[in-house]
Amino acid sequence: PEAITVAELANRMAERTADLVKALFKMGTPVTSNQVIDQDTAELMVSEFGHNIRRVSDSDVDIQAETDVDDDENQQPRAPVVTIMGHVDHGKTSLLDALRGTDVASGEAGGITQHIGAYMVTQKDGSKITFLDTPGHEAFSDMRARGADVTDIVVLVVAGDDGLRPQTIESIAHIKAANKPMIVAINKMDKPGSNAQKIREALLQYDVQVEDMGGETQDVEVSATAKTGLDTLIEKIQLQAELLELTANPDRDAEGVVIEATLDKGRGPVATVLVRRGTLKTGDIFVVGAESGKVRALVDDKGKQVKSAGPSVPVEILGLSGVPLSADPLSVVENEARAREVAAYRASVIQQKRTTTAPASLESMFSALR
Ligand code: GDP
Ligand code: MG
Repeated sequence: PEAITVAELANRMAERTADLVKALFKMGTPVTSNQVIDQDTAELMVSEFGHNIRRVSDSDVDIQAETDVDDDENQQPRAPVVTIMGHVDHGKTSLLDALRGTDVASGEAGGITQHIGAYMVTQKDGSKITFLDTPGHEAFSDMRARGADVTDIVVLVVAGDDGLRPQTIESIAHIKAANKPMIVAINKMDKPGSNAQKIREALLQYDVQVEDMGGETQDVEVSATAKTGLDTLIEKIQLQAELLELTANPDRDAEGVVIEATLDKGRGPVATVLVRRGTLKTGDIFVVGAESGKVRALVDDKGKQVKSAGPSVPVEILGLSGVPLSADPLSVVENEARAREVAAYRASVIQQKRTTTAPASLESMFSALR
């Protein structure tokens, strides 16, 4: 039987445990925070607190071998992968644009960069940061729920003139449940009504304690439109990345994850893949989700053809048999026969899963909240 403790459920909903205990008591279920409640009760509480229950799609089969671990001596430093979250209109897209250095949203960029779902920025010192161009906790939790936990660091955007709002609070829940390091970007500091201190204080209520308040979470005041505080934000991301000591083996057959995929009129099926380890090269034979293929071309986030892409590098691949799903795992395999075999196997498992109506487990039910 599936079950969850009161404290864990409260954590996943970003609600106070005491409030959840109170609500359960009112319902005639007196429990303490460490006690376990059943799935029905948990489900009821989730809706009681106004959260959504989302069931995880079953369409994924991850055949990437978890036992296939790279030796320490093969590990090389890799760029951090950053996701931006926060309430609608608090400036996620504007901040991404500002960080990218070109304002794609307002149409002033003149088509220098192209949207491929993720991009990599290079700093003056040569260090790189990869940003996922799909802000919001939906994308974040969808990817995680489907086994594609690609984010290393989350930047939580809060508008300094607005404060914590429902999606801010939901984002905090996701970040905490996923156990990701967070950097708070207090945005719109160019606005006269902005008050960063008020935001820092409000965050305490959700157990986010920034350095100024005696905690360890980094925060930074920025303006996405006036382009202030961006260098500091980048520095803090780099600092956080250093602490994480992110590494991957670049010298092996590539493995990656689909960030987004589409059927392009001129080019056929195209997928943006974030390489997680190894190096993806033109000519490589691969399986991706239930599709397979041979890399015909690789295109980077600047629209330039490249010959290879290493860990943390987002790249568009051409040469797919069909359009994969986002979060599908990509693995390079030794030959085309093997690629077709694995793809066919995956397709059959997916088919099987779709025809079996297994009861949703509590684990999967709440993965959207993680
Ligand atoms: P998102 O919904 O979180 O992606 O927010 P957007 O980036 O679309 O921004 C919402 C609105 O806030 C837009 O009108 C932006 O121009 C504005 N905005 C974003 N960042 C700033 C900022 O730093 N200062 C000011 N004054 N406005 C901003
Ligand atoms: Mg936006």
